[in-house]
Amino acid sequence: MGDIVVIGAGQAGASLVAKLRKDGFTGKITLIGEEPVVPYQRPPLSKAYLLGDMALERLFLRPESFYEENDIDLLLSAPVDVIDRTGKAVIAGGRKIPYDQLALTTGSVPRRLPAAIGGDLQGVHVVRTLADVDRMAPAVVEGARALIVGGGYIGLEAAAVCAKRGVKVTLVEMSERILQRVAAPETSDYFRALHTGHGVDIREGIGLERLLGEEGRVTGAVLADGSTLDVDFVVVGVGITPATALAEAAGLEIENGIKVDARGRTSDPSIWAAGDCASFPHADGRLRLESVPNAIDMAECVAGNMLGGETDYVPKPWFWSDQYDVKLQIAGLNTGYDRIVSRPGEGQSASFWYFKGDQLLAVDAMNDPRAYMVGKRLIDAGKTADPDRVGDPAVDLKALMRA
Ligand code: FAD
Repeated sequence: MGDIVVIGAGQAGASLVAKLRKDGFTGKITLIGEEPVVPYQRPPLSKAYLLGDMALERLFLRPESFYEENDIDLLLSAPVDVIDRTGKAVIAGGRKIPYDQLALTTGSVPRRLPAAIGGDLQGVHVVRTLADVDRMAPAVVEGARALIVGGGYIGLEAAAVCAKRGVKVTLVEMSERILQRVAAPETSDYFRALHTGHGVDIREGIGLERLLGEEGRVTGAVLADGSTLDVDFVVVGVGITPATALAEAAGLEIENGIKVDARGRTSDPSIWAAGDCASFPHADGRLRLESVPNAIDMAECVAGNMLGGETDYVPKPWFWSDQYDVKLQIAGLNTGYDRIVSRPGEGQSASFWYFKGDQLLAVDAMNDPRAYMVGKRLIDAGKTADPDRVGDPAVDLKALMRA
């Protein structure tokens, strides 16, 4: 099989190299990352870690010793600048590392606000890396004033942490409603009420006009409706783009991410891709998922295929988000839904079930792990449930599986 090099020491990269060893690969493995830390999990960055409830070591996916014990060369602080496909080598900081097979697990790049509207002022933060959060955390103190730009999951999670810390939070969302891109109006309503109840000022349908600064530091914001805010720091959560620059420069095909076939192979047969950066064939065309379960499952599938396997990657999408004392669990993909069925639960719990015709596509479950589990099992098995029974809280959830 020769030497395997993996570019991107994040969730997918770490899963891929571990699986190669688990499956008995004895050749040379090099995992190259541009960040200075061993591969870590990102979800707590906008949740427990930002809140100060989680120690740094607990972020690490595996202890540093794992890589040594498994004879995996882990090169950190080593951004790869070039892939030389003809010479079959990558170049990181002037060092040339040859490969027989290469995997790209380069993740995503957060969108930033343009410098022309103050995006480069100090105190304006994105939340992608440990370094981003370590830079921002000292600002998250009681009495500070924060502007969150973007009402997606990252923005809402950051808003929840800030509000819990006693920060005065304003969140602006340019679209008609928070979570518009990813969830039904019912889910948006649920989270709007949750945040408003914790004192967050949510302004929907309003864009940010520009940030104001003094001596290079953000001090305020002007919104599209002309209103102004005094702010001490800004969190920008306006989405990500797949990290494709390196692949593109190497001439690999790109289509909303690095284009791979069903097995994870790029347009170069020696190069594979997995995780946030990869788009793969799917029933509705191509799909690119931005989640931990996808990074792990796809990386493991690709590892098997790099060793001669012939397995197509079939995602079983799920996702979660923590805000205050609410855990949202999502099963499936809601793309193309035409009907939402609400199933009330006890107290703060509820679930929203997405259907297309009679087919169940996805479930958003808030503090309702049973609804999530039942929904996930049905969706993963390609089954559905009777919408009328789903919406009737008197019908036991388990009975939905038997129907
Ligand atoms: P990453 O984990 O981003 O790893 C990519 C790595 O490649 C990075 O370390 C990057 O520096 C490195 N790299 C890129 N280019 C180069 C180069 N040229 N040379 C060397 N190294 C390079 N998902 C969930 O399922 N649930 C959640 O609750 C959730 N919460 C999240 C909260 C936050 C704040 C963030 C940022 C993400 C969250 N996600 C969540 C998404 C999830 O973390 C990502 O989908 C997952 O990390 C993707 O894994 P990956 O390996 O593809 O990319």
